[in-house]
Amino acid sequence: MSDDNNQQQGSNEAIQLIDEKKHFAKDTIAYFSKCLSSTNGKDDETTSDYHVISVFGSQSSGKSTLLNILFNTSFDTMDAQIKRQQTTKGIWLSHTHTINTTNSSQTPTLSDMFILDVEGSDGSERGEDQDFERKAALFAIAVSEVLLVNMWEQQIGLYQGNNMALLKTVFEVNLSLFGKTVKSKSDHKVLLLFVIRDHVRVTPMDSLKETLVNELEKIWTELSKPDECKDTTLYDFFDLEFIGLGHKLLQYDQFVKDVKQLGDSFNKLPVEDGSLFKENYHHPLPLEGWSMYAENCWEQIENNKDLDLPTQQILVARFKTDEILNECFVKLITEYNLEINSMVKDMDLLTSFLQKIKNLAVQEYDQHASRYNQVVYQEKRTELLNKIDSKFLETINTFLEDLSTDLLLTFESNVNAKDPSSPSFIEKLNSNKTIIIGKFSSVLLNFQNLDLLSETDGISDIFRERVMESYDKLREKELNSIISKSNKTISNKIKEMTIFNLSHPSLKVWDIILANFESINESTLKKYRVKKDVNNDDDMDYDFRLGLSEEDNRLAYKRIRSHAWYSLSTTVRDYLKEDTVVSILRDRFENKFRYDHNDAPRLWTNEDEIDQAFALAKEHALEVFTVLSLAKTSYNIEIIPDVSSPLGNESDDDDDNDDEEKEYEDELGIYHTNRFAHIFNELQKEKILSQFRRQINLTVLDAKRSIITTTTH
Ligand code: GDP
Ligand code: MG
Repeated sequence: MSDDNNQQQGSNEAIQLIDEKKHFAKDTIAYFSKCLSSTNGKDDETTSDYHVISVFGSQSSGKSTLLNILFNTSFDTMDAQIKRQQTTKGIWLSHTHTINTTNSSQTPTLSDMFILDVEGSDGSERGEDQDFERKAALFAIAVSEVLLVNMWEQQIGLYQGNNMALLKTVFEVNLSLFGKTVKSKSDHKVLLLFVIRDHVRVTPMDSLKETLVNELEKIWTELSKPDECKDTTLYDFFDLEFIGLGHKLLQYDQFVKDVKQLGDSFNKLPVEDGSLFKENYHHPLPLEGWSMYAENCWEQIENNKDLDLPTQQILVARFKTDEILNECFVKLITEYNLEINSMVKDMDLLTSFLQKIKNLAVQEYDQHASRYNQVVYQEKRTELLNKIDSKFLETINTFLEDLSTDLLLTFESNVNAKDPSSPSFIEKLNSNKTIIIGKFSSVLLNFQNLDLLSETDGISDIFRERVMESYDKLREKELNSIISKSNKTISNKIKEMTIFNLSHPSLKVWDIILANFESINESTLKKYRVKKDVNNDDDMDYDFRLGLSEEDNRLAYKRIRSHAWYSLSTTVRDYLKEDTVVSILRDRFENKFRYDHNDAPRLWTNEDEIDQAFALAKEHALEVFTVLSLAKTSYNIEIIPDVSSPLGNESDDDDDNDDEEKEYEDELGIYHTNRFAHIFNELQKEKILSQFRRQINLTVLDAKRSIITTTTH
């Protein structure tokens, strides 16, 4: 600002909001801060309690003079600019907190007031200025609540007067601004306050008013309106008020009195009678957003873009609420990082801390952001809450992770612990499962009730899955222990029983072994046997009392039975080595050959006797050789384990393996074999027989020698 501008210092100092080159002042925000800090008790930039007033009228019609007297501002006036003859063009802005009223020329204002003084040249003079005039009108209407239309009394009724051209401009730009919102029934209006200067009261105010209204309505009618505004009246957009001021030079006292009365009606709350302000003149923006809003509006106007005020308000609201959101969030994060590590172990400490910083952040956001567009404010509020929640989620997840681990450990140790009331394993498993799921849910619910967690379903599902994983593992461990205990018992019994029977084989040895095999299985698994059909004693099934499915119970039983077969098979094969069989045969032979019916040793008298006994004994011995080399029942049926292909018939299709002797237990402990019954192959049998023969031949030879010896002596 130039030194000779005669601007006063202080908050009433005016700044050039838009300069002659149509640039928007960059330091508006600083100006606002300065204005507000100079306002006693009203240093809150979030206030919506402010008014914006503009003045319009032809050049040198005393606008700035009036504003300065009325609002104690210090706009440039002609009188102070005698040297230059012209004031500085542009739009000037001044803050005021005093107003000239009938009480005192310096009455404090009820609200902050921002006054715009539009300093142009006469619109009709030059094309370029018309452009400025139009833009200035658009801007003033876009940002102000009250538009003072300043005119000399003698101009009224002269349609060619500049004022009326200006009003036509005002109406036109208004339509371009608000025309579109007519249908959406925005109740926003601007007050056009006609200030008749040098009103010497020869013509009564009412008649001046009538003339003006007629002219205004005529302008409105003749205005080319967009289709959607065809049926609108000027009263859809404007309220009209008229006042006259006495002649400043000829009736100075009257002039001052009139100005003071005008001041009175500016210093009332919108709800009070006689107030020039109304709620629907105000734009829903807190003061801190105003300068941004004004700048955006000017930019759009200057670039000849469609100025859409609601959109501009939303843009400002977005920007500002975002700024507020970030400030609040950064504060929260700082506090959070500072304290969180000491809180994370204790549920109550943690929740109260999180709640505290969340509430603080949200309160602060509400305080600053709630005065912006409500939709934007709410959207951003949700965004803030989501941001906070997802930040908190990291911590809450860590907490819940630790809790899960603790609960799962407790679960396992409780299930494994010996309970004096000795419930069954499955009862322990189920009751402990319910307990820990309940504990976890109650913690989740607590977080949720305190508004610290919005989505809990996913978290609780994951925990449930982990519990079930552990549940299944514990149950499988228990099942495996049942199976291996049963296997051990059955194996031992089978081994003992089988070796006993094979060492003194009878012809029915396999019938006996099979019968024992079944009874060992049955007696060992007795406690797990259940009747499938109550009416049928033979139809038995197994239930290992672990809440397993029928299918899993069946599979578990199959594993035990299969292992039993495996034990039988390995016992048989371990025991029936070629040498063992030879010696069993020889024992059997010798018992028959050497001893008589009364188990007395025989004394041979002749060779015939020996040959006869030899043939009988050999036949007797060999009777069991068939039995020992091929396991079959007395009905001549080869023994085939009933679990050889428990996992379906796939090995049946595999012809290549049929001849190959294969015996093994798979990873489930299921016994596979295709040659259980075939204990020896032909070669082995041949070897056994030849050894057996060799040995009994020796026995016979000995016997014969014993005759010879007796006869020789
Ligand atoms: P602006 O260009 O509309 O801002 O007009 P100014 O406030 O600069 O005033 C222009 C001239 O009009 C100055 O010489 C003032 O002294 C004079 N003036 C201001 N107010 C009045 C008034 O109410 N009546 C008369 N007759 N002259 C006035
Ligand atoms: Mg002026």
